[in-house]
Amino acid sequence: MAGFELENMPGTELCWEAQINPAGAIPVYVIVMSSSSETAKLVEALDSGADDFLRKPFGAEELKARLRAAARVRHSHLRLIEIATADPLNGISNRRSFFEQAGKCLEKAGTEKVVSALMLDIDLFKSVNDTHGHDIGDKVLCQVTEAVGDFAPIFARLGGEEFAALLPGAGCDEAIAIAEKMRTTIAGLSIKAEIGSFSVTCSIGVAERAQGDDIDKLLKKADIALYEAKQTGRNRTVRYEPFNSSGLAVLINS
Ligand code: GH3
Ligand code: MG
Ligand code: MG
Repeated sequence: MAGFELENMPGTELCWEAQINPAGAIPVYVIVMSSSSETAKLVEALDSGADDFLRKPFGAEELKARLRAAARVRHSHLRLIEIATADPLNGISNRRSFFEQAGKCLEKAGTEKVVSALMLDIDLFKSVNDTHGHDIGDKVLCQVTEAVGDFAPIFARLGGEEFAALLPGAGCDEAIAIAEKMRTTIAGLSIKAEIGSFSVTCSIGVAERAQGDDIDKLLKKADIALYEAKQTGRNRTVRYEPFNSSGLAVLINS
């Protein structure tokens, strides 16, 4: 909870500010307190983005009740944000959140800063499910996330057994080094199942942003490199390379 001194700022303007620019993405609940008894003031405050209006003087009991109501609304609001942005399986960012974060990140990076992206897909994951069951497949997804999620500032499960990462400040070589760290870490995981422990591998496609690339274009390039990694044997990292002699992508690791 925060209190604001209005000083010279009109209360209605503060309401708009609070709703438009709520310190990061955290929702703000605004209670306007005023000694005005005019209905027009109340209407103006609510129409300007206030969530509640408290007429002065008020008692402590009323204020506490209003704050409890505010806490309930805020809790629901935060829960909705969580549902909309987090992967229900492992709590990391989902596709929607990835694109939102990536869009902001590219905007912040401007045209000067290098940015790379990678797409990571677990190899032959269907056979993991078929052999060990869907629950063990889910366990693999969780273990993978836990093991490599912190290697990139923006990391998300886009769907199924496919993950994406955005690496602001990293050129292609650095991105490949990070991808290789992810790949070898994943290959080193031991997953316990009923019929014994097993391991998995993954394939990774890496691309560096070129001038004019938005996040869709950048990910498309990483996806083309990922496809190449699958086609050339899996368990490898491939860099997107538009101008090499063989076509679209060049093999970095084999
Ligand atoms: P490739 O090496 O070419 O990527 O082969 P793959 O078997 O990994 O790829 P494919 O697309 O054929 O299979 C992906 C499987 O992932 C199929 C689907 O049932 C499974 N899957 C998708 N989402 C989930 C999930 O949330 N949990 C589990 N356990 N399995 C999932
Ligand atoms: Mg796969
Ligand atoms: Mg896949």
